[in-house]
Parts: sequence; C-alpha cells; structure tokens
Amino acid sequence: MGGTFDPVHLGHLVTAEQARAELALDEVVFVPAGSPWQKVRDVTPAEHRYLMTVLATAANPWFSVSRIEIDARGPSYTVTTLRAVRREVDERSRAAGRPDDELFFITGADAILNILTWKDAHECLALATFVAATRPGHDLANLEREGLRDRVVQLDVPALAISSTDVRQRFAAGGAVRYLIPREVEEYVRKHGLYGTAGSGLAAAALP
Ligand code: ATP
Ligand code: MG
Repeated sequence: MGGTFDPVHLGHLVTAEQARAELALDEVVFVPAGSPWQKVRDVTPAEHRYLMTVLATAANPWFSVSRIEIDARGPSYTVTTLRAVRREVDERSRAAGRPDDELFFITGADAILNILTWKDAHECLALATFVAATRPGHDLANLEREGLRDRVVQLDVPALAISSTDVRQRFAAGGAVRYLIPREVEEYVRKHGLYGTAGSGLAAAALP
C-alpha cells in the first residue's frame, strides 16, 4: 500500500486490514513515498512519515513498513517500486516453492481513478493486481469510464471520511484528532511540533 502517509490515519489502517482479511493476504507492506512527484505542497520529511507509519502499524503482525521509496533518491514512481517488489516476490516465491504468490497494490478510490496519469500506468497495472478501496467522496462507478473496471479488484471498506489533509488542518487549528489517527501518532506529532503544533522543545535534535 503506497501513500504519502502525512500522517498515517485510521482510513489507511482500516483499508489495509480489510484488504488483508478479504483477499487473504500474507502480509501488507506500507510504502511511504519519498518525494511524491504529484504532490505540490511541501511534504513532511520522509523520516517523520516513516516513523509515524511504523508507530501506527507495529502492533499488527501482518503489517510492516518499507523504506524502499524513502531511501531512494529523486522522485518516487510507483512503477519503479513495483518492479523491485515484483522481482523480490518472484524470487521469494520461487525459493519457497510457491510459484502462485500474488502481488497486490492497495489504493483508495481517489488514487485508482488517478492511475492513468501515473508514469508507466499500464506497466503498473501489469506488475500487480490493483485493489480499489471505497472512499467517501469518490465514486468507484467512474472506473467504468476509465476502462478500469475489469482490471482492478474492488474492496468495500467501512467508510471513514478521514484524510491526512484534514488531520493536518486540525492540528494546525488546534482541533480534535483523537480517534482519527492512532494515539501514538498524535503524541509523535506533538513531540516533534509537526503540522503547526507547538512541539515539546526536547525533540528538535532527535531527527535531521
Ligand atoms: P492527503 O489528504 O495528504 O492526500 P490521504 O488521506 O489521501 O492524504 P494518502 O497518503 O494520499 O492519504 O493516501 C494513501 C492511500 O490511501 C491512497 O491510495 C488513498 O486513496 C488511500 N486512502 C486514504 N484515506 C483513505 C480512506 N479514508 N479510505 C480509503 N482509502 C483511503
Ligand atoms: Mg491523498
């Protein structure tokens, strides 16, 4: 599951868990983007987004977080990541004698409807089976219009109208964020003074 995760929220976690259960996945790997080329605003440093995603997923035995994009230089392209992950999955499944192992890429409805604008979109669609999760405010019926209906797996997720954009705005305005993001993530944000919060003053030297 790729994303900016700025910050990770319950919408991401519920979607990932639903995909794991529905599609009987062996694992779900969260892949925070390095410098997302389609995001125009300033994105929070990758190391913060990575650590928040680790905090949010650590207790789930099926979840892990990959550094593949944040350790790469230059802009993140999903196609580059998928090529690398595909190679790894193929090697691993061959070694384990399970040639049928599958690779899925989990997205929300907004991201999947955007996919044709991605670099090498058709190669992306060939490298993994794309999962399109329902997301409030985005209509998966539009997959038909994009010619994608038969090429992706649709996933019904309990509707959570949560976005990182809204969470960032709430932090900046001193609004309520509890139950929208994990408690650990909220504490991390305040400790490091992210999203316009005051910060503890102690954490400044902890990260570059
Ligand atoms: P931003 O507002 O900064 O764009 P976001 O909430 O959309 O943040 P992203 O990191 O952009 O989060 O999203 C990562 C992936 O998770 C995307 O595929 C997105 O569609 C999906 N996603 C995000 N929020 C939800 C949600 N509430 N329900 C279902 N899918 C979601
Ligand atoms: Mg988004």
